[in-house]
Amino acid sequence: MSPITIPDEIMERAYEGKITKEDALLLLKVPPFRLFELADRLRYETVGNTVTYVVNRNINFTNRCIGTCGFCAFRDNSGYIMDIPEILEKVQKAESLGATEVCIQGGLLPNVDIDFYTDIIRAVKKEFPHIHTHAFSPMEVYHAAKQSDITVSKALKMLKEAGLDTMPGTAAEILSDRVRSIICSSKLKTDEWVDVITQAHMKGINTTATIMYGHIETIEERIDHIMLIRDIQKKTGGFLEFVPLTFMPYNNKIGDDMIRQGRYATPGMEDLQLYALARIILNTHIKNIQASWVKLGKKLAQVALYCGVNDLGGTLMEEKISASAGSNNGQFMSAQELEWFIRSSGRQPVQRNTTYNPIININQEQNGLRIA
Ligand code: SF4
Repeated sequence: MSPITIPDEIMERAYEGKITKEDALLLLKVPPFRLFELADRLRYETVGNTVTYVVNRNINFTNRCIGTCGFCAFRDNSGYIMDIPEILEKVQKAESLGATEVCIQGGLLPNVDIDFYTDIIRAVKKEFPHIHTHAFSPMEVYHAAKQSDITVSKALKMLKEAGLDTMPGTAAEILSDRVRSIICSSKLKTDEWVDVITQAHMKGINTTATIMYGHIETIEERIDHIMLIRDIQKKTGGFLEFVPLTFMPYNNKIGDDMIRQGRYATPGMEDLQLYALARIILNTHIKNIQASWVKLGKKLAQVALYCGVNDLGGTLMEEKISASAGSNNGQFMSAQELEWFIRSSGRQPVQRNTTYNPIININQEQNGLRIA
């Protein structure tokens, strides 16, 4: 029979950051509001009542790609490739709207090498030295290294020297080779993803960590993924945040197969359980659990603030990847709307930079808002 409360020894391990896989499986059997309550308490004890966000812009510089990921609705091999002036124009617009970060990612082009990537970063940093460059997934770094016949270590060194500040921990999907062989067989394997991320951290390039869940993976594989992220963090301390991303099932092969079987996106309750579980497993290791309002929708993202979430990511300005896979939650939310959205949820909004330092803007000063 499933327990109706969380056993004391599991509560203790949650506070100590020592939840086991068996604990996590049991936590999914208690009534969800118990799980949410624990995650909310750990969130409060870790970061207080502030909810952070970053003013940023996504720049997806190409939607062409030699990859074959079955969940991808973004790839279009007759699509566009931005040149550097086009990228700079987008950065300039972002900066004029108050962005502190640009998140630059794109498909894998067949005829580019590491210089293509370093040239983008160098150009952005030359024109906009104060803009934080959050760019290139582990898959892109791996691709750049292979194309140039250099090691991942050398590629990361060259990117850092060009001015790369941090990297998105995307391309993680589910860190299980069983799952990866089905949904993204041409992508880097689990240990290769771990290697790129670990080497980045060792070089002083912080990253985020993600999970894309809700397709063919098992619950155990989700838990293993989060525990692997925790193991990496114990070694390197280089993750800034953990970002669960629910799978968007439209306009892609994996989603088509699911829909044929009568399965659609994850139920909202399952999303909330995953956010709560992530907060509990990663407690004392990763402080920031981010909800994607683009994936969840604005209202469910507000509810997630009571299930362990303390960050709502970015204003984005432009979001092509989720939109192409069926997200209709918009591609832009102004800082004013985000702040309203957070305040009306009973929390205190704080604009942050990419590395989670607060940016006190005029509105916040007028409203007397400070970090708790
Ligand atoms: S997910 Fe990325 S690597 Fe995979 S096909 Fe799409 S653009 Fe290419």
